[in-house]
Amino acid sequence: MIEQEFDAIVVGAGMSGNAAAYTMASQGLTVLQLERGEYPGSKNVQGAIMYADMLEQIIPDFRDDAPLERHLVEQRFWVMDDTSHTGMQYRSDDFNEAKPNRYTIIRAQFDKWFSRKVRQAGATVLCETTVTELVRSASGKVIGVRTDRAGGPIYADVVVLAEGVNGLLGTRAGLRKMPKPESVALAVKEMHFLPDEVIEQRFGLQGDEGCVIEAAGTISRSMAGLAFLYTNKESISLGIGCLVSDFAQTMESPYVLLDNFKNHPSIRPLIAGSEVKEYSAHLIPEGGYKAIPQLFGDGWVAVGDAAQLNNAIHREGSNLAMTSGRIAGEAIIEIKGRNQPMIRRNLALYKTMLDKSFVVKDLMKYKDMPALIHTNSRNFFMTYPQLMSQAAQNFMRVDGTPKIEKEKATTAAFIRARSRWGLISDVVRLALAWR
Ligand SMILES: Cc1cc2nc3c(=O)[nH]c(=O)nc-3n(C[C@H](O)[C@H](O)[C@H](O)COP(=O)(O)OP(=O)(O)OC[C@H]3O[C@@H](n4cnc5c(N)ncnc54)[C@H](O)[C@@H]3O)c2cc1C
Repeated sequence: MIEQEFDAIVVGAGMSGNAAAYTMASQGLTVLQLERGEYPGSKNVQGAIMYADMLEQIIPDFRDDAPLERHLVEQRFWVMDDTSHTGMQYRSDDFNEAKPNRYTIIRAQFDKWFSRKVRQAGATVLCETTVTELVRSASGKVIGVRTDRAGGPIYADVVVLAEGVNGLLGTRAGLRKMPKPESVALAVKEMHFLPDEVIEQRFGLQGDEGCVIEAAGTISRSMAGLAFLYTNKESISLGIGCLVSDFAQTMESPYVLLDNFKNHPSIRPLIAGSEVKEYSAHLIPEGGYKAIPQLFGDGWVAVGDAAQLNNAIHREGSNLAMTSGRIAGEAIIEIKGRNQPMIRRNLALYKTMLDKSFVVKDLMKYKDMPALIHTNSRNFFMTYPQLMSQAAQNFMRVDGTPKIEKEKATTAAFIRARSRWGLISDVVRLALAWR
C-alpha cells in the first residue's frame, strides 16, 4: 500500500488528531493521518462550542476562513423541574470583541476545514481507512499500523492515538483499559433548522451573536446529566447526555429524555416551527483526572478523548483535545530535533509538557467532582431542582400568605426532603470538591 516510512502516523482526524498532524506537518515532519470516516468530521459529534484561544495557538489566523457559526455573547444556566426553570445568565457586550473568545461550530464543516489546513501543511490524509492494529517490533515498541486497506503495514517512528473516546485500537493493543460505564456519558443530539432572523429574534441576538443554554435537573430523571441548546447561524443544536452506568441502571431511554427536553415548556417555544434534519449519538469521557490512562509508551502517545482528556464540569472537550494534540506534536518535534528515538523515556516529555498546561491543571482541580455528583445524583438532579423551583415559586406567588410563613414552609420543605444533616453534608462535600 504505502512504502514510505513516516515520522508520525496520526490515527483519527478529529480535533486532537488534526491539531497534532498540523503541528508536526507544519514543522516539516512527514505525517500520515488516517481517518475511518468518509471525510473528517463525518463521524464526529459535538454541541458545539469551540474555544478560540486553543485554535489560535495552532492556526493564528483561523478567523479568516474557518467555518464559524456564531460568537457567544450570552450563556444561560438553567436548573429545571418539569414545568419551570430557575436561571442564571450572563451576557456581555465585551464578547463582541475583535477576536471573540468562543464560537459555535458545526463539526462536519469545521473538521473538513481543519483537515484542509492539515493537508496544506504537508501531511498525507487518507479517509475511509480504519486502523485495525498497531504493529510492534520484537522489543514491543510500536513501529506502525495495519489498516483495513489492502497491503502490508505502514511504518512510522511514532503513532499518535487520536481515535476518540472509544479508543478501541489502544484498548485492543493493551495500552489502556476500556472506559468504565460510570466514567462515560452517552449524549444524543439533534439539529433544528430555522431562519437566522427567527433565531436572532427569539434569543435577542444581532448579526453573528450567539447564545447557549445549559440545563440540569429533573430532565435527566435523577441521573447525572446535562442538556444543552446552542445557537448556530441557521440552526439550533440541542441535546442531552447522562452517564452510561445510569442509563444501564435506570433503563431510561436517551431518546425519551431528548423528547422531554424538547417539549419542556421553557424549550418548546425556542424551537417551535423548526425542521429537524440530523440526529446523532456519541460518548463523552467524564471520569475526570482519575480516569486518565497511560498517555505515552514506546513509540506511541494518546491525545484528546482517547486519553479521556475532557472537563465535564466546565463542559469542555475540544479545547483539551486541540491542546493535547498540539503539545504531543511539539514534544515529538523536539525529540526528533534532538535526534533521539521515540521511546517511552523520551516521549515522557509529552506528559511533562501537558502537566504544565491548563489541561491537566483543570482536571486536577475538579478531581473529586465527577464522583461526588455521580454518587449523589438523585439529590443534585432531582431533589434540589424541585426544591429550588418550589422556593422560587413560593417567593414570587402573591396569595395573602404572610412572608414569615412562606419562609418557614420553604425551610421545612428542604429539611423534609434532605434532613438538616443531609443538607449540610451536601454543601460541605460540594464546597470541598470545588475548592
Ligand atoms: C454531544 C456532544 C457535545 C459536545 N459538546 C462540546 C462542546 O460544546 N465543546 C467542546 O469543547 N467539546 C464538546 N464535546 C466534546 C468534544 O466533541 C470532544 O472532546 C472532541 O471531539 C474530542 O476530539 P478528539 O479528536 O479527541 O476525538 P473525536 O473528535 O471523536 O475524533 C476521533 C476521530 O478518530 C476517528 N477514528 C476512531 N477510530 C479510528 C480508527 N481505528 N482508524 C481511523 N480513524 C479512527 C473517528 O472517526 C474520529 O474522526 C461534545 C461531545 C459530544 C458527544
